Amino acid sequence: MKFIDLRSDTVTKPSGEMLEFMLKAEVGDDVLGEDPTVRELEKLAACITEKEDALFCPSGTMANQIAIKVWTSSPGEMIVHEYSHVLLYEGGGPAFHSGLTAKTIKGGNGVFDDTAVESLINPDDIHFPPTQLIVVENSCNKGGGSVWPIENVKKIKDLSEKHGLKVHLDGARLFNACIAAGYSARDFCSYVDSVSICLSKGLGAPLGSVLCGNEQFIKSSRRIRKLFGGGMRQAGYMAACGIFALQNNIDRLEQDHKHAYELAETLQELKLADEIKPVQTNIILYRPSVESSIWINLLEKFSIGYTRMGEWFRWVTHLNITVEDIQDLKNRLNSIKNEISQKNFA
Ligand SMILES: *Cc1c(COP(=O)(O)O)cnc(C)c1O
Repeated sequence: MKFIDLRSDTVTKPSGEMLEFMLKAEVGDDVLGEDPTVRELEKLAACITEKEDALFCPSGTMANQIAIKVWTSSPGEMIVHEYSHVLLYEGGGPAFHSGLTAKTIKGGNGVFDDTAVESLINPDDIHFPPTQLIVVENSCNKGGGSVWPIENVKKIKDLSEKHGLKVHLDGARLFNACIAAGYSARDFCSYVDSVSICLSKGLGAPLGSVLCGNEQFIKSSRRIRKLFGGGMRQAGYMAACGIFALQNNIDRLEQDHKHAYELAETLQELKLADEIKPVQTNIILYRPSVESSIWINLLEKFSIGYTRMGEWFRWVTHLNITVEDIQDLKNRLNSIKNEISQKNFA
């Protein structure tokens, strides 16, 4: 049985067209500022987010951690959602690289508003680290691919200005959010000081993220990227994949969302899940209706890839999951349902 890989949208492989485009790239030493293709990608990203400049980074983790480092100084504190990638899945980077503590917001599947932030801003008192940064994540991975209303970030931006704080957007999947909500990347980004965007997730590039912000911010970020060991030489080949991804693979994300919605519907119809987080983009987070160990055995038997987030199971649709794969998955879920009924698991 063919393995259908729903573990993550990071598993996508570059298409033949992308590779052809890559081979034609003009390259140079980017640490010396001599790679025209990297520069082209950075200009394109800056244009899409309507920021002054951008920086090509090897990973989303590095892009986020650079932004956190540039916007803060130790001892300091950031305000994030308890689900945030920068806090949970980046190896303790904010503490290690930037000497920060964090205050966390709960609820709302990773989406919050200015009132939740305001109560967490420290007063000017020697007992407390100065609050310096707010990080928002759109779409929010652990929130089940949840999407931010633009009003929320607008109000958070107003509040941040009142208190002299910066706002960073972890936009690893920003375009998924844009397509689901109907706003543009530039509109959403007008309310943040910096944004990181993954090229290697649903957009299908083999690696890389772009970090966007004002000129001074990017100048400082370039210094920190080198410090973190992320200065890359003939990176134009990889940047070319990023350009191809931004030019060709944004609109099609709609298809991934449709697929995710269909899979969630099938789970629901077959009563295979006790709870499913609202599917807004390409991520399905659900709690199976049978014991985890039984569910895992069934997924393995039917060759369906997954990841776990605590008691939740996660599936992610992406550009290597075809219409036929979705039909195939629905059939496999029907077979799983039969197995469960026959063995009286449910
Ligand atoms: C994937 C991801 C990142 C960055 O991950 P890398 O694997 O380092 O590229 C950051 N934030 C979110 C929300 C992500 O999903």
